Amino acid sequence: MTNPDIRDLTRQELAGALIALGEKGTRADRLYTCLYRKGAADFAALDGIPRELSEKLAARYSLRPLPAAEKLISKTDGTIKLLFRFPDGAPAESVVLFNKKTVSACISSQSGCACGCTFCATGALGFRRDLKPSEIVAQLAACRRAAGKLDSVVFMGMGEPFLNWANVKKSILILSDNKGCNFPQTKITVSTVGVVPVIRELAGSHLEIKLAISLITAGEKRAELAPMDKKYPLKDVIEAARYYCTKTGKAVFFEYILFDGVNDGAQDAAKLLELIKGVPCKLNLILYNPLPGGTALPPGRVEKAKEFQKLIMAGGLRAHLRREKGTDISAACGQLAAAAQGGSGPAL
Ligand code: SF4
Repeated sequence: MTNPDIRDLTRQELAGALIALGEKGTRADRLYTCLYRKGAADFAALDGIPRELSEKLAARYSLRPLPAAEKLISKTDGTIKLLFRFPDGAPAESVVLFNKKTVSACISSQSGCACGCTFCATGALGFRRDLKPSEIVAQLAACRRAAGKLDSVVFMGMGEPFLNWANVKKSILILSDNKGCNFPQTKITVSTVGVVPVIRELAGSHLEIKLAISLITAGEKRAELAPMDKKYPLKDVIEAARYYCTKTGKAVFFEYILFDGVNDGAQDAAKLLELIKGVPCKLNLILYNPLPGGTALPPGRVEKAKEFQKLIMAGGLRAHLRREKGTDISAACGQLAAAAQGGSGPAL
């Protein structure tokens, strides 16, 4: 059995491990700097750490370079997709998105996904395994290297983050540690399809991250599109969102996916407005492109989406219409499966 990766430990856990080894817990600060600022990937390369301690750590933990990612770049908008394959063969993907002034990374929390959303290529893959904190943090580091800078991170890649919450939470603590990556929690968004108990847990935590809830759609069609709805029905998800907003004083982000002819009519807009009435929120409308690897939307789709947006705005809610990026490299919402399948489009 291989030793656990030392990069799966938060600094607090590392301090505890050092004390258990008869060392000073404060040495964790220096170790964190070596691991995350200098990118040490070998116990012998821990600058400023006595050899005796490096050897003790090497006997209990592993530390080796994480796999390099294969890189795809969109010809249409510059979006970068990174394909990782971890040593056990588990695939994961990250996407770097270039906005007008900022750069954001969309990272994966699991290899594959057990949720089975019918429109999602990751869902069609099934579940391989949870990603470890070190594997999640490695994605951010690779995205930052690929883009040259990173302003925000969203957990919207492969997997349902709240079904791997222990590891995702640890990765957030590691990413935001001021002795390591020092990435602000306020620039991290975690998106869930609606795991109610974790939404409630997050509301009571001290984490400063943002919460996004993927409504997908507002009516009874949701259970068809997202089987998770059977376990956590939309009304319970909205109630949990309300609780989160009250408890934290923050707004929640709702994501609504516009499927052509499925949920983009006037009645659907009214249903959506009714559903989220009174919840402090920001609404993102995602124009879904069902063409595998395609870049062209069917005629009239954008206009129809703008009509939907107008109806929402007329109902008193601000809605941002988000056009998918990186569709030519299958990097858009719901398309992440290339590392496992050699490229695939959504199944809707
Ligand atoms: S949409 Fe998200 S939760 Fe649903 S199957 Fe895809 S990755 Fe999983």
